[in-house]
Parts: sequence; C-alpha cells; structure tokens
Amino acid sequence: MTLADLQQAVDRWIRTYGVRYFSPLTNLAQLTEEVGEVARILSRTYGDQSAKASDDLSKEALADELADVLWVTVCLANQTGCDLTEAIQKNIQKKTERDKHRHIDNPKLTQE
Ligand SMILES: [Mg+2]
Repeated sequence: MTLADLQQAVDRWIRTYGVRYFSPLTNLAQLTEEVGEVARILSRTYGDQSAKASDDLSKEALADELADVLWVTVCLANQTGCDLTEAIQKNIQKKTERDKHRHIDNPKLTQE
C-alpha cells in the first residue's frame, strides 16, 4: 500500500462509514489522544513506569496505536489537502540536506 493508496482508503472509509471528517481541531485532539496511548505503552515497556494488570503492552497493541496515530494524521492531511507522498519526499530531502553530517559526526550516537 502506497501513501496515496492509504490516503484514498481512509477517505473512502470516512465517506462510507464515518459520515464526514471530524473538524481539524477535533482530529488534532484525537491525534493527541492517540499519541498519548503510544506514550503509555512505551513508557511502561521501556521507561520507569510500571504496568497495570489491565495494560496490553504487546507489540500488536503498540502497532495498533501507531496505526491510530497514522490514521488521524492521514485524516488531517486529507481534509486540509496535503499530499503525503509529495510531503514525505520533500521532508526526506530536507532532512538529508540539513542533517547529512549531523548524526554521523555525533559521538554520542556511537558510544555505548
Ligand atoms: Mg488508540
């Protein structure tokens, strides 16, 4: 599935089952909520916080929450007319031009 396919699939789903897109501000709140759900799993898996008995910290649960983040991101792109294929291509190019030596020259990244 390409990013264009994903944008089309989400748009089809919204128009078929979702009635219409939530407003951009509601989707921003949804995005924040979903990022929080990713943070909860990562914080309890790799951070100092302990897990609750009800927590599902499986890789499948993490992947599902990341997919929720991606879903809402795609909704925001669709409803504001952003082409994510073009955007990520430009973004990778920008990062390459700006940071092509930055991380390679960072000794913190090669020290264990
Ligand atoms: Mg979620």
